[in-house]
Amino acid sequence: MTTALSKTKLFIILAGLSVGMIVLAGCLPVPETIITQVESQVATTFSTSTFTPTSTLTSTPTFTLTPTLEPSTENVCPGGDCAYTCLSKLKSFLNGPGQPLSLPNSITPQPGRSLKMTTLVTYQIEGDQISSPVLAPNLSSDLLPYQADSPAQQRIWAYFAKIIPSGQHREIKTFVIGTDGRGGVLASISLSTADLSNWQLNVDIVDAVDPTDMTYTLLHEFGHLLTLDSSQETPDLQLLNHPNDQQVYATESSTCPQLLTSEGCSKPDSYINNFYQKFWANIFDAWTKINAETDSAAYDRQLGQFYYAHQDQFVTPYSVTSPEEDIAEAWAHFIFDVKPTGNSIARQKILFFYDYPNLVNLRSQIVNSICLYSQGK
Ligand SMILES: [Zn+2]
Repeated sequence: MTTALSKTKLFIILAGLSVGMIVLAGCLPVPETIITQVESQVATTFSTSTFTPTSTLTSTPTFTLTPTLEPSTENVCPGGDCAYTCLSKLKSFLNGPGQPLSLPNSITPQPGRSLKMTTLVTYQIEGDQISSPVLAPNLSSDLLPYQADSPAQQRIWAYFAKIIPSGQHREIKTFVIGTDGRGGVLASISLSTADLSNWQLNVDIVDAVDPTDMTYTLLHEFGHLLTLDSSQETPDLQLLNHPNDQQVYATESSTCPQLLTSEGCSKPDSYINNFYQKFWANIFDAWTKINAETDSAAYDRQLGQFYYAHQDQFVTPYSVTSPEEDIAEAWAHFIFDVKPTGNSIARQKILFFYDYPNLVNLRSQIVNSICLYSQGK
């Protein structure tokens, strides 16, 4: 049985082995600091998108993608290819008018430390606003300044709400500020088992320093929502209540003709099922065997070997951890990078999104919004 923790560990190992190698020709390279900060924290009643294998057939409801995006009203960034130019103008989310906060001593990274995130503040989301902050009790004193820094917390959410159109994040109803110290997890997204229409966005405030890292990670997390929300898949409470249980997964997969993610059964014409059919059909069985490995060291070693054997198929090393992570990484690169040329599978995974006019429009909106934000508008 594979756990989220072992995946995270593998991911860091891969990133470490791949320094200088994670460059997709025709695309901008992703700094290691970004890659190592993506994902994936499991809160008590929430389940994140770690993966599980597979699928057999029965009937499922038909599904039609329904683009609802409005055209961009202001073309700040022609072609959507100047994201990095605008990002370079952004300032740290933590460096507001006040003094920059120092790293809390109690959570300075230690070898072998847990990646578990400590919750500092929980907000509810009303429209595009966060409200009703609930402060976590009994925190160590060095975390209190971060808990009290509501201006920075507001800035982080306001930035997300600025760059992602509100109609696109309707299902995010909870916003959590937490930390696992510097590095590790920067942000994650998870689905509530108590309310299957409630996605929770979690952000590590201590890592909210580099706007490029933050933007990349928020786009990656939004990529999960885009590909796993209720328009894309049917949540499966059995899976959510029994994460990483291979037996439960096998049972549930017998009723899902499409890709079964760790949250539910993807819909026939969903982005992730189309992505899976196009890019994972030939490698899925081999990957599934590795994913079922229960020994974390063996899992890390085998998945590392698998990655290097198929390196031209993955946009980043983290992409190899599951179809869900693969499409989220490709999505983030779709937003950030210029349109790829060439024909490698990794490039095709970015070009995949160009087949959807609504997503091309969304890309333009997001990049324009980043640019407007960078101009203080
Ligand atoms: Zn992810």
